[in-house]
Amino acid sequence: MKICMIGTGYVGLVSGTCFAELGNQVICTDINKIKIAKLNECVIPIYEPGLEELVKRNFKQGRLKFSSDISSSIKNSDIIFICVGTPTKKKTNSANLKYVFSVTNTIKNNLNKYKVIVTKSTVPVTTGDNLEKILNIKKNKNKFDVISNPEFLREGEAIRDFMYPDRVVVGTGSKKANNIMKNLYLPIIKKKSRYFHTSRRAAELIKYASNAFLAAKITYINELANLCEKSNIDVKDVSIGMGLDERIGDRFLRAGPGYGGSCFPKDTRALVTTAKKFKTNLSIVESVIKSNDNRHKLLASRIIKIMSNNLNNKKISFLGVTFKAGTDDMRESPALNIIPSLIKKGATINYYDPSGPKDIFKSKKIKHCKSIKDACNKADLLIVHTEWNEFKQLNFKKLAQRKNFKVFDMRNLYSPEKMKKNNIKYFSIGRYLI
Ligand code: NAD
Repeated sequence: MKICMIGTGYVGLVSGTCFAELGNQVICTDINKIKIAKLNECVIPIYEPGLEELVKRNFKQGRLKFSSDISSSIKNSDIIFICVGTPTKKKTNSANLKYVFSVTNTIKNNLNKYKVIVTKSTVPVTTGDNLEKILNIKKNKNKFDVISNPEFLREGEAIRDFMYPDRVVVGTGSKKANNIMKNLYLPIIKKKSRYFHTSRRAAELIKYASNAFLAAKITYINELANLCEKSNIDVKDVSIGMGLDERIGDRFLRAGPGYGGSCFPKDTRALVTTAKKFKTNLSIVESVIKSNDNRHKLLASRIIKIMSNNLNNKKISFLGVTFKAGTDDMRESPALNIIPSLIKKGATINYYDPSGPKDIFKSKKIKHCKSIKDACNKADLLIVHTEWNEFKQLNFKKLAQRKNFKVFDMRNLYSPEKMKKNNIKYFSIGRYLI
């Protein structure tokens, strides 16, 4: 099939490349001409394990192309995937659909034959209805179906998630469009992924409902971690004990610094706004958002407490700043909230992250370091913020240079007992209160 991806970010690039790998002719487009020029030289703009090899192979074999000529790419394709961003609109907390509408207007002017127009971007319920209205001008009659096919991939595991998803959700009332989509996804469905055909509005809501549910699961265990700290229980035991119940499952039950990233924060906010639009109360999701926002403040005050209420001229090292391992995405990472509040209290920060975001903070008090050793040089406190594999076997005795050296492990990667044995002052999440 001939496919056009509009928006070559995390979702557009990964899904476009995977569709090419499955044997389709794919053209990935973007308004960012520099990005497209680099991709044409096989320079990948994001850190995503395995993506580079896949892009290079499919590019060389001629199935994957990159172009900033969006109009002609639309004309030459049968299926158009809208993959642009839908960030939070600041004033209203709703999803900002300006990029989606802008793309739809471009599609409207380039419908030379029947095409399936797919929203892969996460968009609120009724967006498909609105796109259909925009496209439905006289000359476009019977030339399109607008369908919803939300994407569930996770950054850091994106290729595996795309190729072996739990489910493919397709929302459309059109039999013709559904058949085209089913055919497109056939190689994936054959591998036992469930193809779920539903209404367009339901598909739109499924994406938000799933993300809000996972955000709630993380927030739930984080709140329980607060209780564990006060009642001398190890939250890891609680997670294991709960997760063994198949109705609950053990995933997304790891206490930590709170959820972040490009999806959960914005999607929970947008879902609440959608509910309000339909005069419905989603108090659970509202509480999740509030609790997660508070978590950053709570952890910042915990750090201050660990440092005996004095951060003045204290050197704090962050290991990892991205919201999770396996990505260079800094969007809504907890570190972005925690670090500035430590600076305000007089601390200086060194940070190291394997995916290498180097210039995320514009402050002389924050320094990017090229190695774990450099970041920990003369540190008073080491914070393990992101669960990168290379942080899982650190020799803290070697890293400790200051007499009062302390470790705050926000991912519970280490055993408190072993740390005690090695005389390291160690703090973690949901295990021991200081
Ligand atoms: P992104 O910001 O990484 O990429 C969006 C791209 O769209 C950018 O390259 C931008 O230049 C391009 N763009 C903007 N306006 C355009 C236009 N008019 N024409 C062509 N290109 C344009 O975004 P992303 O993380 O890939 O997310 C895209 C959508 O997918 C969002 O709705 C997001 O919620 C959803 N989603 C993201 C993930 C994820 O893990 N990142 C997972 C599932 C779903």
